[in-house]
Amino acid sequence: MDKKLEKILNEQITKEIASSYLYLGMAAYFDAENLSGCAKWMKVQAKEEMNHGMKIFEYMADKGLHVALGAIEKPENSFKSAKDAFEKTLVHEKKVTASIDNIYKTAKDVGDSSTEIFMHWFVIEQVEEEKNAIEVLAMLAKVKEDSASMILLDKELGRRGE
Ligand code: FE
Repeated sequence: MDKKLEKILNEQITKEIASSYLYLGMAAYFDAENLSGCAKWMKVQAKEEMNHGMKIFEYMADKGLHVALGAIEKPENSFKSAKDAFEKTLVHEKKVTASIDNIYKTAKDVGDSSTEIFMHWFVIEQVEEEKNAIEVLAMLAKVKEDSASMILLDKELGRRGE
């Protein structure tokens, strides 16, 4: 495999696992705030991110490449509000989208067909990831400071993954 492509694929494994860690930190924040539905949403998200990392991990192993895991930074542990956490989720997912697009384009440029096709799933998954965060933010914007509505929204978000 092209060395640059191998490097950014490897880095993406660490980025996905770091995403998982970030969302787990958000889940801990929501649990502490007694927003168990939001916490559940983040725990499901954290598992998905770990699965994304593993998908690339297995792909590299199948290609006979060496997986080199990088360091993961301490995630943010405190947030101002649910809005703050979900805004940071959207900002984060946009960064991931750029990173995925870069891998996809690199695979295309170096003529690595299998990696290019492998990345299709991730490119489409990012549309879903950004949409999910945007949807929650839109609902939070409607809820504003109304605590009764927030309780209902929290219940709704807790249904994720069921
Ligand atoms: Fe991901």
